[in-house]
Amino acid sequence: MRPTGALHLGHYHGVLKNWSRLQSEYPCLFCVVDWHALTTHYETPGMIEQHVWDVLIDWLAAGIDPAQATLFIQSRVPEHAELTLLLGMGTPLGWLERVPTYREQIEKLKEKDLATYGFLGYPVLMAADILLYRASLVPVGADQIPHVEMTREIARRFNYLYGREVGFEEKALAAAKKLGGRRTKRYHELRNAYQQEGQSEALEQAHALLQESQSLSMSDRERLFGYLEGACKLILVEPQVQLAKTSRMPGLDGQKMSKSYGNTIGLREDKHSIEKKVRTMPTDPARVRRTDPGDPDKCPVWQLHLAYSDETTQNWVQKGCRSAGIGCLECKQPVIDAILHEQQPMLERAQKYIDDPSLLRAIVADGCDKARKIAQETMRDVREAMGLSY
Ligand code: SF4
Repeated sequence: MRPTGALHLGHYHGVLKNWSRLQSEYPCLFCVVDWHALTTHYETPGMIEQHVWDVLIDWLAAGIDPAQATLFIQSRVPEHAELTLLLGMGTPLGWLERVPTYREQIEKLKEKDLATYGFLGYPVLMAADILLYRASLVPVGADQIPHVEMTREIARRFNYLYGREVGFEEKALAAAKKLGGRRTKRYHELRNAYQQEGQSEALEQAHALLQESQSLSMSDRERLFGYLEGACKLILVEPQVQLAKTSRMPGLDGQKMSKSYGNTIGLREDKHSIEKKVRTMPTDPARVRRTDPGDPDKCPVWQLHLAYSDETTQNWVQKGCRSAGIGCLECKQPVIDAILHEQQPMLERAQKYIDDPSLLRAIVADGCDKARKIAQETMRDVREAMGLSY
C-alpha cells in the first residue's frame, strides 16, 4: 500500500478487512511502498515519512496482527531497488507504455510532470516488490490485475533468460537430437510452451516427456531431463491474483469513498467531525420540508445504511422516508452510531502506538528484518542465475 496519508473507511472495508482475514490463512507480507510514493510525489518527499507511520498505525488499528503477518517498509529493504534495476534491464519499453493505468494517471494528475523514468518504470518496481518474496498470491482489486499480469510476464522472461545454464539451449537441443526426431520436436514444443505459457505448463510437458521416454537408456534420460529441468528452474515465481471481494464503500456523496473525491471518513477521525460530516450529508433533494416524502434510492445516506444497518433499520428507513414518517437527521443517527461503534476498538488499538511510538518502531524493525532475510535469499539466486555472484 502506498503511504498516501491517514486511511479512511473505504480502505478499511475494501482492503484491510480482507487482509486481516488472509493473515490467519497464509503467511502474509504487508509492505508500505514508500518508493512508490516518490514516483508521483518526487517533488514533495517531505510528507512521506509521516504518511508511512500513519498508514502503519492504521493497519494495526484495523486489526493487522504483527504476530501473524510481517509488516515492513519498502525502502528499509534495499533489495527492492537492486531487483528493480536488474529486472528493468530486460523489460521492454512497450510493456510499460501499454499498462492501462499509465496513460490514465498521466491524464488524471495533469498538474504533475510525470514524464519521468521513475513513473514509467513503476510497474517494474511493483514486480520487484512481489517477486522478491516469491509470493504465490497477491490480493488486489480488479484494477490492479494488469500489474500482476505484467509481474508474471517479467518473471517468465527472467526465468527464460537466466533460469538455466549458459549454453543450455545448444546442449539441450544436441541431446534431444541424439534421442531421435520425435523428441527433438517435443523439445521445441517444450521451449515454446515455456516462452508462451510459463513454467507450470513447461514443467507439465517435461513430465509428460519423461513418461514417454521409458524405453530410453537411463543415462540418456537423465541427461535430457537434466537439461529440461534446467530450462524450468524456478528462480522467480509467477504470482497469481487473489481477487479481493469487492465491497464498494460509499462516500459522503454516494460515490465510491476516495480521497480524490473529498468524500471520506477517516479510520481514526474525531467523533465530532464524523457526526458533523454525516449530519451535513446531502439527502434526496425531493425532501425540502420534513413533510415531503423521499426516495432512499436517490439518497447517499441510504448507501451507508446498506453498508452499516441491519434489516430492521433498513426497513425503518424505507418506510419512514417514503411516508415522511422520519426526518433526515433522525435517519442519519443510526449510521453515525454504527460508524462510531465500528471505530471504537480501532481507536483503542491505535492509542497504544500513539502513546508509545517505540512499540510501533519495534514491530516495523522486526518486520523489516524478516522481509530482508527472504529478499536476500532471492537476490542470491538472482545474482547467481545472472552470473553476477562474483
Ligand atoms: Fe435520505 Fe434518510 Fe432523508 Fe430518506 S430519510 S432522504 S433515506 S436521509
